[in-house]
Amino acid sequence: MRQGRCLCGDVRFVAEGSAKWTAYCHCGSCRRHTGAPVAAYAGFETSKVRFTGAPLAFYESSPGVRRGFCARCGSTLTYEGDRWPGEIHLHVGAFDDPADLAPTGQAFGEERISWLDLPAGQGSGP
Ligand SMILES: [Zn+2]
Ligand SMILES: [Zn+2]
Repeated sequence: MRQGRCLCGDVRFVAEGSAKWTAYCHCGSCRRHTGAPVAAYAGFETSKVRFTGAPLAFYESSPGVRRGFCARCGSTLTYEGDRWPGEIHLHVGAFDDPADLAPTGQAFGEERISWLDLPAGQGSGP
């Protein structure tokens, strides 16, 4: 069981089992939604993730893409896309203990900010 929450604590989640994958996403939409130079995600089966507290608010950043965030504090928490049915992507930074959720892949590497250096061995796919 892994727990996480938004900054204010209104939205909490529990994820069962291990992540299916972990990855950075360099796309401009993730960058803007998080305000960070890169987003880091852990993918779980939707059925393994339970939310409690206040309901997530959603923003559809492109057709079929839902980005979940806390309506009170604005923390970015989830990503769901029609391309990944049955899967929910949780922002790694929202976990209470993200230490063993190091991203192993990178998406949209061509949109990476040029000054952003990531440690070697963090993968180059998908
Ligand atoms: Zn919050
Ligand atoms: Zn992205």
